[in-house]
Amino acid sequence: MSESPEEKKIATRLFLEEDLGAGAKIGLDHARAHFLRSVLRLGQGALLGVFNGRDGEWLARIEGMGKGWTSLELLEQRRPQTPEPDLWLAFAPIKRGRIDFLAEKAAEIGASRLLPVITRFTDVSRVNTDRLAANAREAAEQCERLTVPEVAEPIKLSQLADNWPSERRLILCAEFGPARPLAEVLGELGPAPGPLGVLTGPEGGFAASELDALTQLPFVTPVSLGPRILRADTAALAALACCQAICGDWRERPEFR
Ligand code: SAH
Repeated sequence: MSESPEEKKIATRLFLEEDLGAGAKIGLDHARAHFLRSVLRLGQGALLGVFNGRDGEWLARIEGMGKGWTSLELLEQRRPQTPEPDLWLAFAPIKRGRIDFLAEKAAEIGASRLLPVITRFTDVSRVNTDRLAANAREAAEQCERLTVPEVAEPIKLSQLADNWPSERRLILCAEFGPARPLAEVLGELGPAPGPLGVLTGPEGGFAASELDALTQLPFVTPVSLGPRILRADTAALAALACCQAICGDWRERPEFR
């Protein structure tokens, strides 16, 4: 009896840019070849899961490897591509360490796009989006997602407001001023909320003028995360988790268990 693809144990999962299909052969870049050989100590014949955000997840076999190179052969599809939540996180960048943690955890929770936003009291001058993207990709590989969240280049809060797509509800985490309880707002949106975004401020908080201006926008709903002031990373992740639990895909279960 032949094994079904889900019964075949994979050593790791990799996100690739290439098109995926039966019989395709893919050469890995030096860094990933090194990772498989020297860090995971895999050899020829080892099985991997690969995905590209378009073609589902494929079972791949290491066909050959040497110092600095690995070639994979794709065997069969393990999972078809399925729609994932359309949930953006716009956040004022915070210092290194915390921002890496934020990118990793937002990817695990299921955010689809990460947008660093420079606000008045943002005190981080440079955002390394390549590093954030690498954190998000590694988290996506590890948590069995079929996509990797996109990381946008930083923009100013005024640009974010001007260019925000009006059909995308923006949940503004407002630490002061008028705001409704987050669970109440999300409960009204229900299980098919349409495109959503969450916006959180920096450690110094939003300026009153920023919250006033944002609150005027028809697509913005200011929300409260309770009586405590949360650190910026905690606020962003707590809000994303509520979105996923109340109106996202946390009703579903992991596959292959
Ligand atoms: N220094 C500010 C707090 C900033 S907290 C002060 O002392 O007032 C960082 C961000 O997390 C805030 O801008 C907001 O977006 C979010 N946040 C933290 N606690 C919150 C709460 N209780 N309700 C809503 N948003 C909150």
